Amino acid sequence: MRAAGVGGGAKVLAGAPVIEQGMVEQDFADMAGAGVRLLGEIGLGSVKAGYEARTMVGWARKHGIQSTIHTGGPSIPGSGLIDEQVVLEADADVIGHVNGGHTSLSYKAVCTLCEKSSRALEIVHNGNERIAILTARHAMELKCPHRVILGTDSPAGSGVQPLGILRMIALLSSLADIPAEIVIGFATGNTARMRNLPQGLIEVGRPADFVFMDRAQHSAGSNLLESIRLGDIPGVGMVMIDGLVRCQRSRNTPPAHEVPVIVA
Ligand SMILES: [Zn+2]
Repeated sequence: MRAAGVGGGAKVLAGAPVIEQGMVEQDFADMAGAGVRLLGEIGLGSVKAGYEARTMVGWARKHGIQSTIHTGGPSIPGSGLIDEQVVLEADADVIGHVNGGHTSLSYKAVCTLCEKSSRALEIVHNGNERIAILTARHAMELKCPHRVILGTDSPAGSGVQPLGILRMIALLSSLADIPAEIVIGFATGNTARMRNLPQGLIEVGRPADFVFMDRAQHSAGSNLLESIRLGDIPGVGMVMIDGLVRCQRSRNTPPAHEVPVIVA
């Protein structure tokens, strides 16, 4: 095991252009050639109609670029509503913040998206928490937990949430009553598969990116998974990125009951 000389560090996957009216297929070929793999949220630019978005989503997919669509009410003045009909017509790879960013579609409309689309359902922190819980439950009832991924939709008006994904995991496991190991899968393996990322799964040949966690000290839960199921945020004991120890006991989670020890 190698330890980094300095604490901290992060792995950033960035570069997601927003599509605009007037773009042609060659633009998507050029972007793919320049290494672009993700589009910014559809709906934030001038492309608002489902049929316009659908054409560009198709070009993006053909050239290996993933798409995500804004879902729900406007996020800032000047942006607009994207309802379930537009989302279904656009057919982007990820139904972004399905529980609103911030303002959610009705639960009935979200159920329509769950049932009529087979695309990924992104549930976020900066959205409607009631619809987050109901969507997760509905996905379980529809036997499609593999479609759920977690996000924060930050930065946004609600800010940038420290521990945003851990908070989502604790929220959905405890209040949507879903086993913690499945909700952790929403945040890790599902995201890896949906986004074609090498990390997020533990397998030979994948990057050694790990978060070591344990139940928080004095949690009512007797182990990590039970503590999350009871609604407690876990304690982070170590973060490793590409095999390098980037930080040890976290100072902004509750202290973990046990933490990893570097022995060599
Ligand atoms: Zn959005």
